[in-house]
Amino acid sequence: MPTQLQHARDGETTAAMRRVAERENVDPEFVREEVAAGHAVIPANREHPSLDPMVIGEAFSTKVNANIGNSEETSSREEELKKLHTAVHHGADTVMDLSTGSDLDGVREANVRYSPVPVGTVPIYEAVKRADSVGDITFEMLFEVIEKQAEQGVDYMTIHAGVLMEHLPLTDGRKTGIVSRGGSILAKWMEDNAAQNPLYARFEELCEVFAEYDVTFSLGDGLRPGCLADAGDDAQYAELETLGELVAVAREHGVQAMVEGPGHVPLDMVAEQVDREREVCDGAPFYLLGPLVTDVAPGYDHITSAIGATEAARAGAAMLCYVTPKEHLGLPDAEDVRDGLAAYRIAAHAGDVAAGLPGARDWDDALSEARYAFDWRRQFDLSLDPERAREFHDQTLPGDNYKEARFCSMCGAEFCSMRIDQDAREDGEMDRIADETDLEDSPAAEVNRPPVGTHDTSRVPELPAFLREIHEDDRSGAAADDWSRVRN
Ligand code: SF4
Repeated sequence: MPTQLQHARDGETTAAMRRVAERENVDPEFVREEVAAGHAVIPANREHPSLDPMVIGEAFSTKVNANIGNSEETSSREEELKKLHTAVHHGADTVMDLSTGSDLDGVREANVRYSPVPVGTVPIYEAVKRADSVGDITFEMLFEVIEKQAEQGVDYMTIHAGVLMEHLPLTDGRKTGIVSRGGSILAKWMEDNAAQNPLYARFEELCEVFAEYDVTFSLGDGLRPGCLADAGDDAQYAELETLGELVAVAREHGVQAMVEGPGHVPLDMVAEQVDREREVCDGAPFYLLGPLVTDVAPGYDHITSAIGATEAARAGAAMLCYVTPKEHLGLPDAEDVRDGLAAYRIAAHAGDVAAGLPGARDWDDALSEARYAFDWRRQFDLSLDPERAREFHDQTLPGDNYKEARFCSMCGAEFCSMRIDQDAREDGEMDRIADETDLEDSPAAEVNRPPVGTHDTSRVPELPAFLREIHEDDRSGAAADDWSRVRN
Protein backbone atom coordinates (compact mmCIF):
# COMPACT_ATOMS: atom_id res chain seq x y z
CA MET A 1 0.00 0.00 0.00
CA PRO A 2 1.44 3.42 -0.91
CA THR A 3 2.66 5.80 1.79
CA GLN A 4 1.32 9.33 2.22
CA LEU A 5 4.37 10.50 0.28
CA GLN A 6 3.73 8.12 -2.61
CA HIS A 7 0.03 9.04 -2.72
CA ALA A 8 0.99 12.71 -2.78
CA ARG A 9 3.47 12.21 -5.59
CA ASP A 10 0.80 10.32 -7.56
CA GLY A 11 -1.42 13.40 -7.27
CA GLU A 12 -3.82 11.70 -4.88
CA THR A 13 -5.25 13.56 -1.89
CA THR A 14 -5.75 11.10 0.96
CA ALA A 15 -8.25 11.23 3.83
CA ALA A 16 -5.36 12.14 6.16
CA MET A 17 -4.40 15.08 3.91
CA ARG A 18 -8.00 16.31 3.85
CA ARG A 19 -8.23 16.05 7.64
CA VAL A 20 -5.01 17.97 8.29
CA ALA A 21 -6.10 20.58 5.74
CA GLU A 22 -9.31 21.02 7.75
CA ARG A 23 -7.35 21.40 10.98
CA GLU A 24 -4.92 23.88 9.42
CA ASN A 25 -7.62 25.78 7.51
CA VAL A 26 -5.84 25.33 4.17
CA ASP A 27 -6.63 23.74 0.82
CA PRO A 28 -6.05 19.94 0.75
CA GLU A 29 -4.20 20.37 -2.53
CA PHE A 30 -1.68 22.58 -0.74
CA VAL A 31 -1.10 19.83 1.84
CA ARG A 32 -0.61 17.31 -0.95
CA GLU A 33 1.95 19.52 -2.68
CA GLU A 34 3.95 20.05 0.51
CA VAL A 35 3.95 16.32 1.31
CA ALA A 36 4.89 15.43 -2.28
CA ALA A 37 7.86 17.79 -2.09
CA GLY A 38 8.98 16.25 1.21
CA HIS A 39 8.54 19.65 2.89
CA ALA A 40 5.83 18.28 5.19
CA VAL A 41 5.16 14.90 6.77
CA ILE A 42 2.00 13.28 8.12
CA PRO A 43 3.19 10.69 10.65
CA ALA A 44 0.36 8.16 10.47
CA ASN A 45 1.18 4.48 10.87
CA ARG A 46 -1.46 2.30 9.25
CA GLU A 47 -1.67 0.36 12.55
CA HIS A 48 -2.67 3.37 14.67
CA PRO A 49 -6.48 3.50 14.34
CA SER A 50 -7.12 6.03 17.14
CA LEU A 51 -4.94 8.67 15.46
CA ASP A 52 -6.31 12.04 14.39
CA PRO A 53 -3.74 12.90 11.70
CA MET A 54 -1.71 16.10 11.83
CA VAL A 55 0.92 17.62 9.60
CA ILE A 56 4.46 18.77 10.39
CA GLY A 57 6.02 21.24 7.98
CA GLU A 58 7.32 24.78 7.76
CA ALA A 59 4.24 25.99 5.89
CA PHE A 60 1.91 24.89 8.70
CA SER A 61 1.46 25.87 12.33
CA THR A 62 4.47 24.92 14.44
CA LYS A 63 3.88 21.72 16.38
CA VAL A 64 4.99 20.75 19.88
CA ASN A 65 6.14 17.33 21.06
CA ALA A 66 6.11 16.15 24.67
CA ASN A 67 8.39 13.35 25.81
CA ILE A 68 6.85 10.78 28.13
CA GLY A 69 7.97 7.31 29.19
CA ASN A 70 9.21 5.37 32.16
CA SER A 71 12.71 4.79 33.53
CA GLU A 72 14.26 2.05 35.63
CA GLU A 73 13.18 3.93 38.75
CA THR A 74 9.54 4.61 37.76
CA SER A 75 6.63 3.71 36.70
CA SER A 76 3.62 1.56 35.69
CA ARG A 77 1.51 1.28 32.54
CA GLU A 78 -1.18 3.18 34.42
CA GLU A 79 1.26 5.97 35.29
CA GLU A 80 2.35 6.21 31.69
CA LEU A 81 -1.23 6.54 30.47
CA LYS A 82 -1.72 9.36 32.96
CA LYS A 83 1.33 11.10 31.50
CA LEU A 84 -0.04 10.61 28.01
CA HIS A 85 -3.32 12.13 29.09
CA THR A 86 -1.61 15.07 30.79
CA ALA A 87 0.48 15.76 27.68
CA VAL A 88 -2.46 15.62 25.28
CA HIS A 89 -4.71 17.57 27.64
CA HIS A 90 -2.18 20.41 27.77
CA GLY A 91 -1.82 20.54 24.01
CA ALA A 92 0.96 18.21 22.85
CA ASP A 93 0.70 17.65 19.10
CA THR A 94 2.78 14.49 19.32
CA VAL A 95 4.23 12.42 22.15
CA MET A 96 7.46 10.45 22.22
CA ASP A 97 7.52 7.34 24.38
CA LEU A 98 11.12 7.31 25.59
CA SER A 99 10.63 4.47 28.05
CA THR A 100 13.77 2.71 29.22
CA GLY A 101 12.31 0.82 32.20
CA SER A 102 10.25 -2.36 32.39
CA ASP A 103 7.23 -3.55 30.38
CA LEU A 104 8.35 -1.60 27.30
CA ASP A 105 5.97 -3.42 24.97
CA GLY A 106 2.97 -3.03 27.26
CA VAL A 107 3.58 0.66 27.83
CA ARG A 108 4.07 1.31 24.11
CA GLU A 109 0.98 -0.64 23.09
CA ALA A 110 -1.14 1.22 25.63
CA ASN A 111 0.21 4.59 24.52
CA VAL A 112 -0.52 3.91 20.85
CA ARG A 113 -3.95 2.47 21.65
CA TYR A 114 -5.12 5.50 23.62
CA SER A 115 -3.28 8.27 21.79
CA PRO A 116 -5.13 10.52 19.34
CA VAL A 117 -1.79 12.16 18.49
CA PRO A 118 1.18 10.62 16.67
CA VAL A 119 3.47 8.53 18.85
CA GLY A 120 7.24 8.54 18.34
CA THR A 121 9.95 6.29 19.79
CA VAL A 122 13.73 5.83 19.82
CA PRO A 123 14.11 2.10 19.09
CA ILE A 124 17.78 1.89 20.05
CA TYR A 125 16.77 2.25 23.71
CA GLU A 126 14.96 -1.09 23.55
CA ALA A 127 17.90 -2.68 21.73
CA VAL A 128 20.19 -1.58 24.58
CA LYS A 129 17.85 -3.26 27.07
CA ARG A 130 17.94 -6.50 25.08
CA ALA A 131 21.73 -6.71 24.72
CA ASP A 132 24.21 -7.57 27.46
CA SER A 133 26.26 -4.52 26.55
CA VAL A 134 26.14 -1.78 23.90
CA GLY A 135 28.88 -3.48 21.88
CA ASP A 136 26.77 -6.65 21.65
CA ILE A 137 23.89 -4.98 19.82
CA THR A 138 23.52 -6.39 16.31
CA PHE A 139 21.80 -4.93 13.26
CA GLU A 140 19.41 -7.88 13.33
CA MET A 141 18.45 -7.00 16.89
CA LEU A 142 17.86 -3.37 15.93
CA PHE A 143 15.88 -4.40 12.85
CA GLU A 144 13.69 -6.72 14.91
CA VAL A 145 12.93 -3.97 17.43
CA ILE A 146 12.13 -1.46 14.68
CA GLU A 147 9.89 -3.91 12.84
CA LYS A 148 7.99 -4.80 16.01
CA GLN A 149 7.46 -1.16 16.97
CA ALA A 150 6.22 -0.43 13.45
CA GLU A 151 3.74 -3.31 13.78
CA GLN A 152 2.59 -1.86 17.11
CA GLY A 153 1.56 1.36 15.35
CA VAL A 154 4.39 3.79 16.20
CA ASP A 155 4.05 6.75 13.83
CA TYR A 156 7.61 8.04 13.76
CA MET A 157 10.97 6.82 15.01
CA THR A 158 14.19 8.61 15.85
CA ILE A 159 16.97 6.84 13.98
CA HIS A 160 20.51 8.06 14.63
CA ALA A 161 21.82 6.97 11.24
CA GLY A 162 23.85 10.11 10.64
CA VAL A 163 26.55 9.54 13.27
CA LEU A 164 29.51 8.10 11.37
CA MET A 165 32.90 6.77 12.47
CA GLU A 166 34.65 9.59 10.69
CA HIS A 167 32.65 12.17 12.68
CA LEU A 168 33.77 10.93 16.08
CA PRO A 169 37.25 12.55 16.13
CA LEU A 170 35.52 15.87 15.42
CA THR A 171 33.98 15.75 18.90
CA ASP A 172 37.36 15.50 20.67
CA GLY A 173 37.71 19.17 21.51
CA ARG A 174 34.16 19.62 22.70
CA LYS A 175 33.27 20.99 26.09
CA THR A 176 30.46 18.46 26.65
CA GLY A 177 31.27 15.64 24.21
CA ILE A 178 28.30 13.66 22.85
CA VAL A 179 25.13 14.44 24.81
CA SER A 180 22.51 12.65 22.72
CA ARG A 181 21.66 9.28 24.29
CA GLY A 182 21.37 7.63 20.87
CA GLY A 183 24.52 9.36 19.63
CA SER A 184 26.58 8.24 22.61
CA ILE A 185 25.31 4.64 22.32
CA LEU A 186 26.19 4.44 18.63
CA ALA A 187 29.59 6.07 19.16
CA LYS A 188 30.41 3.44 21.76
CA TRP A 189 29.13 0.68 19.49
CA MET A 190 31.37 1.87 16.63
CA GLU A 191 34.39 2.06 18.91
CA ASP A 192 33.74 -1.39 20.41
CA ASN A 193 33.19 -3.01 17.03
CA ALA A 194 35.53 -0.90 14.89
CA ALA A 195 32.74 -0.79 12.32
CA GLN A 196 30.50 1.79 10.69
CA ASN A 197 27.13 2.73 12.23
CA PRO A 198 24.84 -0.14 11.15
CA LEU A 199 21.84 2.18 10.94
CA TYR A 200 23.71 4.09 8.23
CA ALA A 201 25.31 1.09 6.53
CA ARG A 202 21.96 -0.72 6.14
CA PHE A 203 19.63 2.28 6.03
CA GLU A 204 17.86 1.06 2.90
CA GLU A 205 16.67 -2.06 4.71
CA LEU A 206 15.09 0.18 7.33
CA CYS A 207 13.37 2.14 4.57
CA GLU A 208 11.56 -1.01 3.47
CA VAL A 209 9.99 -1.51 6.92
CA PHE A 210 9.17 2.17 7.25
CA ALA A 211 7.46 2.12 3.84
CA GLU A 212 5.44 -0.99 4.70
CA TYR A 213 3.77 0.66 7.71
CA ASP A 214 4.19 4.28 6.59
CA VAL A 215 6.36 5.15 9.58
CA THR A 216 8.09 8.53 9.31
CA PHE A 217 11.82 8.88 9.87
CA SER A 218 12.87 11.41 12.49
CA LEU A 219 16.57 11.48 11.63
CA GLY A 220 18.28 11.99 14.96
CA ASP A 221 21.11 14.44 15.53
CA GLY A 222 23.35 12.20 17.61
CA LEU A 223 26.09 14.83 17.60
CA ARG A 224 23.95 17.77 18.62
CA PRO A 225 25.74 20.36 20.77
CA GLY A 226 25.24 19.99 24.52
CA CYS A 227 26.35 23.52 25.35
CA LEU A 228 26.67 26.91 23.68
CA ALA A 229 30.41 26.43 23.12
CA ASP A 230 29.82 23.36 20.92
CA ALA A 231 26.98 24.82 18.81
CA GLY A 232 27.56 24.73 15.06
CA ASP A 233 30.90 22.94 15.32
CA ASP A 234 32.39 20.65 12.66
CA ALA A 235 30.94 17.51 14.26
CA GLN A 236 27.39 18.86 14.25
CA TYR A 237 27.49 20.13 10.69
CA ALA A 238 29.29 17.03 9.34
CA GLU A 239 26.44 14.91 10.71
CA LEU A 240 23.89 17.30 9.19
CA GLU A 241 25.41 16.66 5.74
CA THR A 242 24.89 12.92 6.27
CA LEU A 243 21.30 13.53 7.41
CA GLY A 244 20.69 15.41 4.16
CA GLU A 245 21.96 12.41 2.23
CA LEU A 246 19.64 10.08 4.21
CA VAL A 247 16.61 12.31 3.61
CA ALA A 248 17.16 11.77 -0.12
CA VAL A 249 17.48 7.98 0.31
CA ALA A 250 14.28 7.83 2.40
CA ARG A 251 12.37 9.82 -0.19
CA GLU A 252 13.61 7.52 -2.97
CA HIS A 253 11.96 4.69 -1.05
CA GLY A 254 8.74 6.66 -0.66
CA VAL A 255 9.32 7.20 3.07
CA GLN A 256 8.57 10.48 4.81
CA ALA A 257 11.45 12.07 6.71
CA MET A 258 12.04 14.93 9.09
CA VAL A 259 15.33 15.97 10.68
CA GLU A 260 16.13 16.61 14.33
CA GLY A 261 18.15 19.59 15.53
CA PRO A 262 19.79 20.97 18.65
CA GLY A 263 19.95 21.41 21.63
CA HIS A 264 22.02 24.33 22.96
CA VAL A 265 22.52 27.29 20.58
CA PRO A 266 23.19 31.00 21.25
CA LEU A 267 20.21 33.10 20.22
CA ASP A 268 22.09 34.81 17.38
CA MET A 269 22.86 31.41 15.77
CA VAL A 270 19.37 29.88 15.90
CA ALA A 271 18.10 31.16 12.55
CA GLU A 272 21.36 30.11 10.90
CA GLN A 273 20.77 26.56 12.13
CA VAL A 274 17.29 26.50 10.62
CA ASP A 275 18.49 27.97 7.32
CA ARG A 276 21.33 25.49 7.07
CA GLU A 277 19.09 22.49 7.71
CA ARG A 278 16.59 23.71 5.11
CA GLU A 279 19.37 23.98 2.53
CA VAL A 280 21.28 20.78 3.34
CA CYS A 281 18.17 18.61 3.82
CA ASP A 282 16.17 19.98 0.88
CA GLY A 283 13.41 21.50 3.01
CA ALA A 284 12.71 18.41 5.13
CA PRO A 285 10.74 19.47 8.25
CA PHE A 286 13.11 20.53 11.04
CA TYR A 287 12.30 19.27 14.54
CA LEU A 288 14.29 21.02 17.26
CA LEU A 289 14.91 20.25 20.89
CA GLY A 290 14.68 23.76 22.30
CA PRO A 291 17.27 25.12 21.69
CA LEU A 292 18.47 26.49 25.04
CA VAL A 293 20.02 29.90 24.48
CA THR A 294 22.05 29.90 27.71
CA ASP A 295 23.50 27.14 29.87
CA VAL A 296 23.31 28.91 33.22
CA ALA A 297 19.74 28.37 34.38
CA PRO A 298 19.04 24.76 35.41
CA GLY A 299 15.60 24.70 36.97
CA TYR A 300 14.37 27.21 34.37
CA ASP A 301 15.34 25.49 31.14
CA HIS A 302 11.75 25.48 29.88
CA ILE A 303 12.28 29.27 29.71
CA THR A 304 15.86 29.34 28.34
CA SER A 305 14.84 26.89 25.65
CA ALA A 306 11.47 28.47 24.84
CA ILE A 307 13.36 31.64 23.92
CA GLY A 308 15.41 29.68 21.38
CA ALA A 309 12.34 27.71 20.28
CA THR A 310 10.43 30.94 19.53
CA GLU A 311 13.24 32.12 17.27
CA ALA A 312 13.45 28.70 15.66
CA ALA A 313 9.70 28.71 14.95
CA ARG A 314 9.93 32.21 13.50
CA ALA A 315 12.82 31.11 11.27
CA GLY A 316 10.96 28.06 9.95
CA ALA A 317 11.20 25.13 12.38
CA ALA A 318 8.30 22.73 11.88
CA MET A 319 8.16 21.09 15.31
CA LEU A 320 9.60 21.84 18.75
CA CYS A 321 10.37 19.21 21.35
CA TYR A 322 9.46 20.65 24.71
CA VAL A 323 11.89 21.02 27.59
CA THR A 324 10.60 21.03 31.15
CA PRO A 325 11.95 22.84 34.24
CA LYS A 326 13.52 19.50 35.27
CA GLU A 327 15.83 19.36 32.23
CA HIS A 328 19.34 18.28 33.27
CA LEU A 329 18.06 17.68 36.81
CA GLY A 330 15.52 14.85 36.97
CA LEU A 331 12.48 13.11 35.53
CA PRO A 332 9.58 15.58 35.03
CA ASP A 333 6.31 15.14 36.92
CA ALA A 334 2.84 16.18 35.75
CA GLU A 335 3.29 19.82 36.79
CA ASP A 336 6.59 20.00 34.89
CA VAL A 337 4.87 18.57 31.81
CA ARG A 338 2.21 21.27 32.07
CA ASP A 339 4.79 24.06 32.49
CA GLY A 340 6.94 22.73 29.65
CA LEU A 341 4.01 22.44 27.30
CA ALA A 342 2.74 25.93 28.13
CA ALA A 343 6.21 27.37 27.45
CA TYR A 344 6.44 25.56 24.13
CA ARG A 345 2.93 26.31 22.93
CA ILE A 346 3.71 29.96 23.60
CA ALA A 347 6.97 29.62 21.65
CA ALA A 348 5.28 27.86 18.73
CA HIS A 349 2.44 30.35 18.52
CA ALA A 350 4.63 33.43 18.96
CA GLY A 351 6.90 32.08 16.22
CA ASP A 352 3.91 31.54 13.91
CA VAL A 353 2.63 35.08 14.53
CA ALA A 354 6.06 36.59 13.89
CA ALA A 355 6.52 34.49 10.76
CA GLY A 356 3.18 35.76 9.43
CA LEU A 357 1.44 32.39 9.26
CA PRO A 358 -2.01 33.22 7.83
CA GLY A 359 -4.64 33.40 10.56
CA ALA A 360 -2.18 32.87 13.42
CA ARG A 361 -2.91 36.22 15.07
CA ASP A 362 -6.69 35.73 15.06
CA TRP A 363 -6.38 33.96 18.40
CA ASP A 364 -4.54 36.94 19.94
CA ASP A 365 -7.09 39.35 18.51
CA ALA A 366 -10.01 37.37 19.89
CA LEU A 367 -8.52 37.24 23.38
CA SER A 368 -7.68 40.96 23.28
CA GLU A 369 -11.24 41.79 22.30
CA ALA A 370 -12.57 39.72 25.18
CA ARG A 371 -10.10 41.41 27.55
CA TYR A 372 -11.11 44.92 26.49
CA ALA A 373 -14.79 43.95 26.77
CA PHE A 374 -14.16 42.69 30.34
CA ASP A 375 -15.63 39.38 29.22
CA TRP A 376 -13.68 37.38 31.77
CA ARG A 377 -15.20 33.99 31.01
CA ARG A 378 -14.42 34.35 27.33
CA GLN A 379 -10.91 35.51 28.19
CA PHE A 380 -10.33 32.39 30.30
CA ASP A 381 -11.72 30.11 27.62
CA LEU A 382 -9.50 31.63 24.98
CA SER A 383 -6.41 31.41 27.16
CA LEU A 384 -3.63 29.01 26.29
CA ASP A 385 -4.09 27.42 29.72
CA PRO A 386 -7.69 28.23 30.70
CA GLU A 387 -7.48 26.45 34.02
CA ARG A 388 -4.52 28.51 35.17
CA ALA A 389 -5.99 31.81 33.97
CA ARG A 390 -9.22 31.16 35.85
CA GLU A 391 -7.40 29.95 38.95
CA PHE A 392 -5.15 33.03 39.14
CA HIS A 393 -8.05 35.44 38.66
CA ASP A 394 -10.18 33.69 41.25
CA GLN A 395 -7.44 33.69 43.87
CA THR A 396 -8.35 37.29 44.66
CA LEU A 397 -11.77 37.84 43.06
CA PRO A 398 -13.58 34.50 43.17
CA GLY A 399 -17.20 35.71 43.15
CA ASP A 400 -19.42 35.33 40.11
CA ASN A 401 -20.09 39.07 40.16
CA TYR A 402 -16.41 39.68 39.34
CA LYS A 403 -16.78 37.85 36.04
CA GLU A 404 -18.32 41.02 34.60
CA ALA A 405 -16.30 43.49 36.67
CA ARG A 406 -14.55 46.33 34.85
CA PHE A 407 -11.30 45.72 36.71
CA CYS A 408 -9.28 42.99 38.36
CA SER A 409 -7.08 42.96 41.43
CA MET A 410 -3.93 43.86 39.51
CA CYS A 411 -4.60 47.62 39.30
CA GLY A 412 -7.87 47.68 41.27
CA ALA A 413 -11.12 49.43 40.35
CA GLU A 414 -9.83 52.99 40.74
CA PHE A 415 -6.72 52.54 38.61
CA CYS A 416 -7.98 50.10 35.97
CA SER A 417 -6.58 51.74 32.86
CA MET A 418 -8.96 50.02 30.46
CA ARG A 419 -11.96 51.22 32.49
CA ILE A 420 -10.52 54.75 32.69
CA ASP A 421 -9.84 54.71 28.96
CA GLN A 422 -13.36 53.55 28.19
CA ASP A 423 -14.94 56.11 30.51
CA ALA A 424 -12.89 58.89 28.91
CA ARG A 425 -14.03 58.16 25.40
CA GLU A 426 -16.64 60.38 23.82
CA ASP A 427 -20.28 59.44 23.99
CA GLY A 428 -21.05 56.87 21.39
CA GLU A 429 -17.50 55.71 20.89
CA MET A 430 -17.83 52.91 23.41
CA ASP A 431 -21.03 51.78 21.71
CA ARG A 432 -19.10 51.56 18.48
CA ILE A 433 -16.26 49.61 20.14
CA ALA A 434 -18.78 47.39 21.87
CA ASP A 435 -20.39 46.65 18.52
CA GLU A 436 -17.02 45.88 16.98
CA THR A 437 -16.09 43.62 19.84
CA ASP A 438 -19.40 41.83 20.03
CA LEU A 439 -17.83 38.43 20.18
CA GLU A 440 -21.04 36.64 19.34
CA ASP A 441 -21.06 38.21 15.89
CA SER A 442 -17.34 38.66 15.41
CA PRO A 443 -15.35 36.39 13.12
CA ALA A 444 -12.95 36.15 16.06
CA ALA A 445 -15.60 34.20 17.95
CA GLU A 446 -14.82 31.35 15.61
CA VAL A 447 -11.16 32.03 15.98
CA ASN A 448 -8.81 30.11 13.79
CA ARG A 449 -6.90 28.64 16.68
CA PRO A 450 -3.91 26.45 15.88
CA PRO A 451 -4.88 22.79 15.90
CA VAL A 452 -3.53 22.21 19.38
CA GLY A 453 -5.84 20.58 21.86
CA THR A 454 -8.42 20.01 19.15
CA HIS A 455 -7.82 16.36 18.52
CA ASP A 456 -10.76 14.27 17.48
CA THR A 457 -10.81 11.51 20.07
CA SER A 458 -13.79 9.66 18.63
CA ARG A 459 -11.62 6.77 17.48
CA VAL A 460 -9.82 6.40 20.81
CA PRO A 461 -11.18 3.35 22.66
CA GLU A 462 -13.14 4.05 25.81
CA LEU A 463 -10.74 5.28 28.45
CA PRO A 464 -9.89 3.02 31.40
CA ALA A 465 -11.89 3.97 34.52
CA PHE A 466 -8.96 5.68 36.30
CA LEU A 467 -8.38 7.91 33.28
CA ARG A 468 -12.03 8.77 32.92
CA GLU A 469 -11.94 10.20 36.44
CA ILE A 470 -8.91 12.36 35.70
CA HIS A 471 -10.52 13.47 32.47
CA GLU A 472 -13.66 14.63 34.26
CA ASP A 473 -11.59 16.41 36.93
CA ASP A 474 -9.68 18.27 34.24
CA ARG A 475 -12.91 19.59 32.84
CA SER A 476 -14.60 20.47 36.08
CA GLY A 477 -13.37 24.07 36.08
CA ALA A 478 -14.69 24.76 32.62
CA ALA A 479 -17.59 27.11 32.27
CA ALA A 480 -17.87 27.55 28.55
CA ASP A 481 -20.00 25.42 26.30
CA ASP A 482 -17.20 25.31 23.77
CA TRP A 483 -14.75 23.72 26.20
CA SER A 484 -15.01 20.30 24.62
CA ARG A 485 -14.50 21.87 21.21
CA VAL A 486 -11.13 23.25 22.10
CA ARG A 487 -9.74 20.82 24.65
CA ASN A 488 -9.77 17.16 25.31
S1 SF4 B 1 -7.28 46.29 36.60
FE1 SF4 B 1 -5.45 46.52 35.32
S2 SF4 B 1 -4.90 44.38 34.75
FE2 SF4 B 1 -7.00 44.34 35.55
S3 SF4 B 1 -8.33 44.58 33.78
FE3 SF4 B 1 -7.97 46.66 34.51
S4 SF4 B 1 -6.16 47.37 33.36
FE4 SF4 B 1 -6.24 45.14 33.13
